[in-house]
Amino acid sequence: MRKKTCVVTGSSRGIGRGIAERFGNEGCEVVVNYRSSPEEAEAVVDAIESSGGSAIAVQADVTDVDQVEQMRAEVHETFGPVDVLVNNAGINQDILFKEMSHEDWDVVLDVHLDGTFHCTQTFYDDLVAAEEGRLINISSIVGKGGNFGQANYATAKAGIFGFTRTLALELAREGTTANCVAPGFISTQMVEELPEKIKDRIREDTPLGRLGTVEEVAEVVAFLASDRSSFITGEVIDVNGGKDL
Ligand code: NDP
Repeated sequence: MRKKTCVVTGSSRGIGRGIAERFGNEGCEVVVNYRSSPEEAEAVVDAIESSGGSAIAVQADVTDVDQVEQMRAEVHETFGPVDVLVNNAGINQDILFKEMSHEDWDVVLDVHLDGTFHCTQTFYDDLVAAEEGRLINISSIVGKGGNFGQANYATAKAGIFGFTRTLALELAREGTTANCVAPGFISTQMVEELPEKIKDRIREDTPLGRLGTVEEVAEVVAFLASDRSSFITGEVIDVNGGKDL
């Protein structure tokens, strides 16, 4: 990939970390965003720099537009305008719908939907000005199929599909693409915290017979961020081991 400046929200661990490290290995300038885990974010920066890449850690809660704008100012000061935005930051707060409170609902939609809205609006002009800007949103298999105890999360992730397709239309004439990656169950803290019984069932239900790795998701994101994906926009690419077959 030619050298690009890439912001990856929520990249202090998990899938975001995998994407940030992958961009670093490709020779990009990487912004490692986090909300509350500075040590983990600095460890990602160290890993990128020790492999010859360039990175900074920037604290910003994506639900807070002022913090996102402050992040943009810091990024501009260090690297200049952004070529690639990956909206990856995410949380889950699982509970059966019957017991779901407004707070359970709001907190999940805030991070996934408001967070994606704030970051995309804040970096929109950068993406338009970039030679081949790239907007990549991380959704989920659950946004397509739903999942027990995840009405809030599934709703948010389904919303990301509509958001991405609309942005693909609005950005197309600017030469900027917008795509979605929809992972299945990937081995990160979010999934490792599930009871062993549920993880066994996920493996059984996945034709490839295992959880995915962050590197397998990062590979697809790196492709979408590169000039090799120049005629692909408005797409959802599944990375799920065949789980929805
Ligand atoms: P993790 O819980 O491992 O990591 C989440 C990351 O998001 C952390 O870096 C966390 O930072 C950050 N984050 C959370 N809230 C905010 C916020 N408000 N502002 C900024 N950063 C925030 O999650 P995963 O790596 O598993 O998931 C990453 C993305 O992939 C999410 O969007 C998730 O929904 C999606 N996904 C994951 C799947 C999986 O199987 N793991 C499957 C499908 C989709 P901090 O700790 O500092 O808050």
